[in-house]
Amino acid sequence: MRKPIIAANWKMNIGPKEAEDFLSTFTSQLDNITDEADVVIAPPYVSIPAAVSALHSNSGVSIAAQNVSEQDSGAYTGEVSTMMLKELFVRYVIIGHSERRTLYGETNALINAKIKKARAANLKPIFCIGETLDQRESGKLEEVLRSQITEGLAGIDDKDMKEIVVAYEPVWAIGTGVVATVEQAQEAHAFVRSVIADLYSGELAEKIRIQYGGSMKADNAGELLAQPDIDGGLVGGASLEPQSFLELIRAAVAAG
Ligand code: PEP
Repeated sequence: MRKPIIAANWKMNIGPKEAEDFLSTFTSQLDNITDEADVVIAPPYVSIPAAVSALHSNSGVSIAAQNVSEQDSGAYTGEVSTMMLKELFVRYVIIGHSERRTLYGETNALINAKIKKARAANLKPIFCIGETLDQRESGKLEEVLRSQITEGLAGIDDKDMKEIVVAYEPVWAIGTGVVATVEQAQEAHAFVRSVIADLYSGELAEKIRIQYGGSMKADNAGELLAQPDIDGGLVGGASLEPQSFLELIRAAVAAG
């Protein structure tokens, strides 16, 4: 049985003060929901310290970074290292988000280097993959996902793979309000799991949590999470207000 994992990706929204206010409202209404789902918040880097200090040590909520450098230290202007994130008690890191791939030119090779660096620091990668509309419509869905997975995970052994969460995010559904149908999402998730089984083993693939991302909201989270291969969500827009994120988590937990 895979425990659902719901992660908020705040992107370039919510500064330190707002993060503090968000989390005090959010955690006061979480009840025991973190017994049933892992809840993760990914603020912008500068809001991480405020977010961490606003969380009670027993809130059950983990903090993620939205990105990380593949380097350890040195002349890399604007970059942040895994060790810096560890110092802030960050637990997860989103790697390979489609906005990083398309707007900042991140390749599968760079994403692979970041995943390795994150694992070396014992951070848990949330490894994002997904196809564009063009790729889907031209019949390349499986080819694209297979190469993102194979190249992104090259050289990652079973032990590290167990600590990785995969986020399947069809690019055409991110921030667009267009959500994949439950059939499209389940089919892609089952395919992703089968590729992981080919690369590792069926037994390991059964343990890996695969989140869906792309316009997930409270009113579609339940039917998505009810699918056998959908184990959570990576949520942008609907995670920017405490109430809408709480409603989404409640719906996901009720179904998952
Ligand atoms: C995301 O940024 O990963 C995402 C899924 O965004 P949204 O929920 O807004 O589509």
